[in-house]
Amino acid sequence: VLFCLWAVSAEAEYLKYKDPKQPMSTRIKDLMKRMTLEEKIGQMSQIERRFASPDVMNQYFIGSVLSVPGDTPGLNATAEDWVNMVNEIQKAALSTRLGIPMIYGIDAIHGHNDVYNATIFPHNIGLGVTRDPDLVKRIGAATALEVRATGIPYAFAPCVAVCRDPRWGRCYESYSEDINIVRTMTEIIPGLQGDVPANSSKGVPFVGGKSKVAACAKHYVADGGTERGIDENNTVINRTSLYGIHMPAYYDSIIKGVSTVMISYSSLNGEKMHTNRDLVTRFLKDNLKFRGFIISDSEGLDRITSPPDANYTYSVQAGILAGIDMVMIPNNYAEFIGNLTLLVKDNIIPMSRIDDAVERILRVKFILSLFEDPLADLSLVNQLGSQEHRELAREAVRKSLVLLKNGKITSQPLLPLPKKAPKILVAGTHADNLGYQCGGWTNQWQGVSGNNFIVGTTILSAIKKTVDPSTQVVYQQNPDANYVKSNKFDYAIVVVGEVPYAEMFGDSSNLTIPEPGPSTINSVCGAVKCVVVIISGRPVVLEPYVDKIDALVAAWLPGTEGQGVADVLFGEYGFTGELARTWFRSVDQLPMNVGDPHYNPLFPFGFGLTTQPVKMN
Ligand code: BGC
Repeated sequence: VLFCLWAVSAEAEYLKYKDPKQPMSTRIKDLMKRMTLEEKIGQMSQIERRFASPDVMNQYFIGSVLSVPGDTPGLNATAEDWVNMVNEIQKAALSTRLGIPMIYGIDAIHGHNDVYNATIFPHNIGLGVTRDPDLVKRIGAATALEVRATGIPYAFAPCVAVCRDPRWGRCYESYSEDINIVRTMTEIIPGLQGDVPANSSKGVPFVGGKSKVAACAKHYVADGGTERGIDENNTVINRTSLYGIHMPAYYDSIIKGVSTVMISYSSLNGEKMHTNRDLVTRFLKDNLKFRGFIISDSEGLDRITSPPDANYTYSVQAGILAGIDMVMIPNNYAEFIGNLTLLVKDNIIPMSRIDDAVERILRVKFILSLFEDPLADLSLVNQLGSQEHRELAREAVRKSLVLLKNGKITSQPLLPLPKKAPKILVAGTHADNLGYQCGGWTNQWQGVSGNNFIVGTTILSAIKKTVDPSTQVVYQQNPDANYVKSNKFDYAIVVVGEVPYAEMFGDSSNLTIPEPGPSTINSVCGAVKCVVVIISGRPVVLEPYVDKIDALVAAWLPGTEGQGVADVLFGEYGFTGELARTWFRSVDQLPMNVGDPHYNPLFPFGFGLTTQPVKMN
């Protein structure tokens, strides 16, 4: 009898889904056979870190947890703190009946930007300028290492939006107004995930081991085409433009094995993308054979109705039937789970739809080896903000700069600047501010954490490191013209621009540089030869100042490595960048994109002057 009992329990302990020798499809099938409806719906729920207590993980069988900016172990938490935090949540997931690991996700959109001491790369708008897919792939690989260093296997990147109107507050998350540039930049996906093996079937996600992360192409689709550039607005578009401008980056992402796709808050011809079954299920899943999972945007189901949650049962029904597999931050996760459970029990949502979602989510978890290796170790912590990654970011900064003007008509080019000069002036609110340099989505959502919570080099300190030791560098944020005239400066470097913003908080109908930027340009550039460096997430109004300025540089949102700006200003490297966006004259021209019939920009798409590196001795 004892022997029989032993034999029975030994047999019961063999769980096919836990056996790495079994093929993945067998493991998924075996696991799904064992799962209750509650366990399946739990897999489809992604909740915020602050709610992910062991009790909640256990009670609801939560399948995924995320850090939104600010919901972190602290503004200056170390990589170890992150690993420990993620592991604690993972242990709770593993202690559930079937021990299904959770997947932790984060917005690592220009480096690991929610984490102290991470390398912050230029925002996508600057990377588009480089037209260098290999560079962007290397940035993806570095970002993956930094994300893994903190115990996280999933990044909500890249944003493959094609921003058609710079009034949009997320324009800087877009590589270009031109789909061809955005397409080439999807090389960040094999950077983040690894190269898809040649024998892989189309549409099946790929992640190449523990130094890589699952990526997410977002926001599907036409988020960059909304009317007047208003965030989350409606995109009015015909089929030709939809499939010619906004869709191709998704074909590329899927071919490159992207693991997940995030749905856009925006609407398409009046229909919320979160309810668009035609484009989500029929197009992505059926036509393109995408086999990873589709994730909603944060509270995306809640926002199907206006006001949000006006009819939440309807929203859950419409979103899940459209083909969304994982729901990011249901405003109230218990309510989401309750609603979805009832919709299935009432046969309004078929079980096959739930199974499709769960199969996709489990596939990505198996591909990430989360079943074999659910807990992160500390072996990669030194990758966070490593010297090698900072050098890479510096290279990206150099290549992202666009020289828009170099010398007035009657004068010699001002750039490259001489390193040796008795006395130079550095001015502007943006010369010594890491928060401004990095822009939104940096340690905090609105990117306002500034010099205290970001580790890097400001442009001012980079200039000081680059000039000859005999050169005196004077820094004044907003000097008046008399002060500038009464001091004998050889030249001035003025660094001004936009202040950080994210999402709809960045929507702007005037696109002006805020004060005191314009007054600094006016007082300095009238009094001494000046180069103006613009820090901005998009083209801004420049026409009123451009004649006063001797040399003009668009530096976008360069990130932590301000040294890259000094490298090029002082001629260690030449300017090579070409605009990946049209630089308008006045906002009443917008939207205006390359190829438009009345194209009359201040600087056209593709424009960029060059300089030669200065020979060093
Ligand atoms: C944004 C997404 C982001 C998500 C999670 C949303 O508000 O639209 O791009 O991934 O938040 O932070």
